[in-house]
Amino acid sequence: MSKNQFKNHGRQYLAIPGPSVIPEAVLQAMHRPAPNIYAGELVEMTATIVPDLLRVARTNGKVAMYIGNGHAAWEAALANVIASGDRVLVPATGHFAYGWAEMAKGLGAKVDILDFGKRNPIDINRIGDALRADKSHEIKAILAVHVDTSTSIRNDISALRSVIDAEGHPALLMADCIASLGCDVFEMDAWGVDIMVTGCQKGLMVPPGMAFVFFNDKAAEARTKMLRVSRYWDWVPRANPEEFFMYWNGTAPTHHLYGLRTALDMLHAEGVEAVWKRHAVLASAIWAACDCWSSEGTLALNVVDEANRSVAVTSLFLGAPNGTALREWVEKNIGLTLGIGLGMAQPDDPDWHGYFRLGHMGHVNGHMIMGLLGGIEAGLSALDIAYGEGALNAAARVIAKGS
Ligand SMILES: *Cc1c(COP(=O)(O)O)cnc(C)c1O
Repeated sequence: MSKNQFKNHGRQYLAIPGPSVIPEAVLQAMHRPAPNIYAGELVEMTATIVPDLLRVARTNGKVAMYIGNGHAAWEAALANVIASGDRVLVPATGHFAYGWAEMAKGLGAKVDILDFGKRNPIDINRIGDALRADKSHEIKAILAVHVDTSTSIRNDISALRSVIDAEGHPALLMADCIASLGCDVFEMDAWGVDIMVTGCQKGLMVPPGMAFVFFNDKAAEARTKMLRVSRYWDWVPRANPEEFFMYWNGTAPTHHLYGLRTALDMLHAEGVEAVWKRHAVLASAIWAACDCWSSEGTLALNVVDEANRSVAVTSLFLGAPNGTALREWVEKNIGLTLGIGLGMAQPDDPDWHGYFRLGHMGHVNGHMIMGLLGGIEAGLSALDIAYGEGALNAAARVIAKGS
């Protein structure tokens, strides 16, 4: 038996930042014959999903649901409040801000990007300057990514609301929580977020396929001023359906709904705050291990200040070509898949092979994180990549203390 056949004799572990690990209970809930979409269990169950989603987002607002991925959520949100010719401000701390900005451009928006680099969060003062300079209040919305999954920077969304209010600016605050919802602390209403978008395949632990747009009264009011909104993206019937098919503008994602129902049961049984805490402890364990590894050799956490790090994803530098070599080694030999570096270097640049990411969002516990870290250390060791000692002990101590 060749060495790398070991990997087929145990569970594979997909530790990429989305899609995340799917709980067995979610898979089992989805494994069933097709349900009736006109009456009965599916219809009743969907009505219970809406309030439970709102509780995860911490909002008393509304939610519109779509069959789609995160990109669909981006377009859905924009299509309801941004008309061709409207101006939006996009603070960028990584790849995904540019993605949302592109979506806005495609809808005809004028897009101002403020780039804060790949290692630091949004500088709120510069947002204040931009809003102050916009004397005629042309900026209709700020499109802010809460956790940029490429850099693993977490931005302070509530500070954005404070600066918008301090400047007396009417711009809508829109947040991308695709990576962060159900992982990092997020309070839609308390933080004054008008529109929040997410998908089902990261913190919500369901296979990719559903997108959600949450909105408050101010956003609903902005929607009424739109000259036209494409029927498919219109959030009005989806958030206020008179008939079941209106939730989805057509056939519902039947099996995904069973999966989501179970995922929401799991999330609320644990408690949203306990879910945040679990992610924080596990992320601290990862950072503690990285601090030890980086005491020798080249490994480095992308985000220096802990306060600016997501607890759902960690972006790391190892140096080319070792980032790719490590990913390939752990996948081939031990059944562990790490995330590629994204947005840190262009894919055709040799430096691209120096970056990788860890996904630790959703259905993760202590032994999985210890396995992830142990697997990385095995890879570093097998490839003769220099690293500092004590990482696994340090991580174990964090987990012991936190649980
Ligand atoms: C994953 C992700 C997206 C894109 O979602 P898709 O489902 O791949 O379309 C957008 N923004 C953030 C922050 C993400 O993490």
